Amino acid sequence: MNRIAVIGSNMVDLITYVDRMPEAGETLEAPRFSLGCGGKGANQAVAAAKLGADVVFVTRVGDDFFADGTIANLQACGIDTRHVRKVPGASSGVAPIFVRPDSGNSILIIKGANAAMDAIAIKDAADALKQSSLIVLQLEIAIEVVYAAIDFAAEHGIPVLLNPAPAVAGLDPARLAKLDFLAPNETELALLSGMPVTSLETAQAAARSLVDNGCTHIIATLGEKGALYVGCEGEWHIPACRVNAVDTTGAGDAFVGCFAKVWSETHDIRTAMEEAVAYSACSVTAFGTQSSYPDSAAFERFRD
Ligand code: ADP
Repeated sequence: MNRIAVIGSNMVDLITYVDRMPEAGETLEAPRFSLGCGGKGANQAVAAAKLGADVVFVTRVGDDFFADGTIANLQACGIDTRHVRKVPGASSGVAPIFVRPDSGNSILIIKGANAAMDAIAIKDAADALKQSSLIVLQLEIAIEVVYAAIDFAAEHGIPVLLNPAPAVAGLDPARLAKLDFLAPNETELALLSGMPVTSLETAQAAARSLVDNGCTHIIATLGEKGALYVGCEGEWHIPACRVNAVDTTGAGDAFVGCFAKVWSETHDIRTAMEEAVAYSACSVTAFGTQSSYPDSAAFERFRD
């Protein structure tokens, strides 16, 4: 059995490239628009699936036309969409993004159907979850669903990874203690530990404090500083690959998706981190989020 269950969000990115933002009451023509599939849950599911993992994705879409496009995109990546359910009367999750000529951006997030997923979704997907070798979670859905999934995983002895993004304060320490893997970026690590994270040394100290409070394995991503492990197997740092980074959006999701795929096959944390550092580096060399994630053939070419 080697199946990854991702429980989380999906979003449609509505990216408008503007010369300037319109004033109140003004209608303005913009030069370019593009549509992208995103959402942290979907990104992680897609990264793992593009690398050949068997992935089931538990999420909610609206009953608008974005829903079918989202499902088609997931299926095109080979993801099992049996637990992608439509929520009557809800919009799909969307993110209108405005990109200015200097590349600065303004982003709105409308969670839509993602916010309608409740803890019943976990019971509903119980059979699929029980057949999984790893459950992967993030925080773009209601916290009660995340907690229900952690409790379910603990009850059934299924390894569980939480990517605590976006950063949220005040997570239940008892739930954090039930995790196998906690995979924060620097901002999330600082918020969860209550300690400043500005360097590798401060990241190590912050991660150690989380281990002291009961987390088993901390896998912290540190942007262009790479990734750090602190946990019951010791401590190590894997430097980032040197690449020409053009767009780091979704790098953390690429890391988590690849880590999940490799760890569920090998149960080797260091190897999974090394692969994930290389995979996320490859993703930052191309524009876009899911569109920047290489499949296994393109990833192999990148590694050569
Ligand atoms: P997030 O996108 O969640 O903020 P990070 O910025 O920590 O996550 O990036 C995730 C991983 O992507 C890092 O651990 C690193 O391996 C890789 N990465 C990010 N930025 C770069 C970069 N400029 N060059 C190479 N690798 C990068």
